This record gives sequence, structure tokens and C-alpha cells, in this order.
Amino acid sequence: MRANAFHWFISYNSGSRIAVDSALTQHSFPVTRIDRSRIDIVDFDNLGFEDDFSDHMFRCEFRDGQWIEPQIVPYGAFQIYPGALCLHYGQAVFEGLKAFRGIDGNIRVFRPDMNAERLRNSCERLCIPPVDEELFCSAIDELVGLDEKWIPSKRGESLYVRPLIFATEPNLQVKAADRYLFLIITSPVKEYFSERTGGISLRAEPRYTRAAPGGTGFAKTGGNYAGTLRPGEDSIAQGFDQTLWLDGLEHLYVEEVGQMNIFFRIGDTFVTPPLQGTILPGVTRNSVLTLLKDRGEKCEERRIRIEEIIEAHHNGSLTEVFGAGTAAVITPVGRIAYQDEVIDLDADAPELMSKRLYDGIVDIQTGAVEDVHGWNRVVTSSDGAAASAKVV
Ligand SMILES: *Cc1c(COP(=O)(O)O)cnc(C)c1O
Repeated sequence: MRANAFHWFISYNSGSRIAVDSALTQHSFPVTRIDRSRIDIVDFDNLGFEDDFSDHMFRCEFRDGQWIEPQIVPYGAFQIYPGALCLHYGQAVFEGLKAFRGIDGNIRVFRPDMNAERLRNSCERLCIPPVDEELFCSAIDELVGLDEKWIPSKRGESLYVRPLIFATEPNLQVKAADRYLFLIITSPVKEYFSERTGGISLRAEPRYTRAAPGGTGFAKTGGNYAGTLRPGEDSIAQGFDQTLWLDGLEHLYVEEVGQMNIFFRIGDTFVTPPLQGTILPGVTRNSVLTLLKDRGEKCEERRIRIEEIIEAHHNGSLTEVFGAGTAAVITPVGRIAYQDEVIDLDADAPELMSKRLYDGIVDIQTGAVEDVHGWNRVVTSSDGAAASAKVV
């Protein structure tokens, strides 16, 4: 184990640094820069949500009971053993958040402390040694600061930040690994579904389930997604954008959508399913609830039967449905199908709350309005050199 001015040593058990030096106050990591940037090959006028990854990535290894050697290196392929436990038994977790270039030119990362906490909870569920919040946030600061030219500046665009941790120990036993990699990669994106008018369409899934009580539904782990691909293809084959998940026990209660949490406006109340272990605790969901309460709107986190939604549609009290998630921010829903029932909603009406919530969130993210809740982490970059971060 090397110990130099740039390395932090993170102890697994205590979750705190056990050997630090001046690097602690500088938040800097060793950086190996690329020889030539790939930024010129990116078509910034036609961004998607796909595979344009920025020049650098963060990496940190877990070995001998510690997270060691955090550093920034060129983005690129690397080697792992075919026996790596993540490839066989799925011991892997990830996160998703965004960095924005504000209207004042400042770079802001939206609520990374929430993602750090969720990552810790995901790690805990899968027996992965957790990464502490300070390492998580300063790694993002540095990486985003270094690749700041990759942050698009149009409204609705951002630099998507994807942290991931996976088991690298080669072993055939089903067990928690003793070696891991923690990576952070970034990609310029525009919003998922940003081309869509009329809202997205959802098919309530009557047969398959995404998560069950006691399972891993609250953890952001790849395995949860693998199981949704088959029903997701069924939804697309039947002409829908996404699957609306119902509870795993009875298929009676609404849970969430693909990569989004879901909200219903019934009468004068906004209703969303509660966090009881089977749905992802979305940062956007939390932000929406806060903004709705700020506006004096009535909100309920409670179980919602799919039958209640259909009934509310029939009696005219269901006026609005929208999804909330980092990738798509706020996405109005225009259609929900459940068995023989089809609910059609006007997803383009100007008075919809989803539009105001979208603007409310994006205005905070881009510094257009005051960040009264202290959600933004402002990253100041000095020409690609080590960034320093402050919360304002
Ligand atoms: C990531 C995710 C969400 C949304 O969470 P945000 O923090 O708002 O991006 C919702 N559902 C699932 C299944 C997810 O993986």
C-alpha cells in the first residue's frame, strides 16, 4: 500500500479515513490526463441518452479491507478476471445524478449527498463495503471539474454522472467479494423522453413483478433491471413506452415505473406510493414532495390500488399523472393501460402541475432561482485543474 500526499485511505469498518494528510483539505486526487480529448466527435446538437462518455473517469479500489488509491484516469476499457464475482452473481450497485452548467456559468451538481446516502444503503443490502459521502462527493467534484467542457449548456441538457461499484474478486463461491472497483463515468445527455408530446404511455404489468417485500427493490442494483427487460419488451411490443409495476404479492397496488417514481393527482391531492422497501427512494421523488409542500399542495405517501386509479378516472377526479426521476426529470403520463381498461389523460395542458414542477426543479439546478433548500453543490473549476467544491 502506497502512502503519498494524494492518497486517502478509507477504512471499511468505521467508514472514516484512517490515514490522511494535506490531501484532506485539498480534495485532490492524482490525475492521469488523456493525450487528446474526444470531445470533437460528440454531436452536441443531437445528444441522446446513450454512449458518449467524457474523457476521464474516477476509479478507486477496495482491497485488504480498505478503499484505496482514488484517482482520475482516461476513460477506457480495463481488465477484470472472468471469475469476477459481479459477472456471476450480480454483486453490483450504481447511482445516477446530474451536473449542470448554470445560467451564471457555474457548475452545479444536484443533491449528491442524497445519492451518496442511497449508494450506502444499496451497498449495505448487497454486502458491498460502503463509500463515504466525502469521497463520493469530492470524486464527483474533481471529475466534473476536469471534464467541464463536456457539460452542455442548453436547458434540458446536463452531464449525467454514473457512479458504480462492483465485485472484482475471482471466485466461484456465492459470497461477498473481498475486492471491488468503484468507478464514476460521465456522459453529456439530454432528457430522456424530451422529444415526447402527449406524455408517455404505461402498461400496468399484470404478471411479472419487479420487487417483492424483503427483496432488493429499494437498492439501485443492476439485477433489478435485468429482471425488467422481458416485461419491458412486452410493453414496447404492445405499443407502450414503459411498464407500470404493481406490487409483488397481489398485483393490486401501484409501485413505480422503469426508472421513475410515480405521482397521481386525485382531486386536490398528490399521491405517491410510500417507501416500504420495494420501490427506489428517488431523489426526484423527494424533491417533488418538497416543492409541492412549499406550494401548499396536499401530498400523501400511501398505497394506491390500481383499481382506485381507474375509478378516479371514471369519476373525473384523476386529473394528472407524472413520473419523476433524474434521467427524465418530470414526465407527464398520457396513457395507462391495465388489462382491458385504458386511461387517457391530457398530458399537454398548460395548467398541469408537472410543468411547474419541471420548471421549478430545472430552475434550481441551473441557478435561475434561489436554491432555498441548499440542494446544489457548486463545483468551481479552474481550467481543468483540481476542482474545489463548496455548498452554497
Ligand atoms: C433511479 C431510479 C428511480 C429514480 O430515482 P432518482 O434518484 O429520482 O433518479 C426510480 N426508480 C428506479 C427503479 C430507479 O432505478
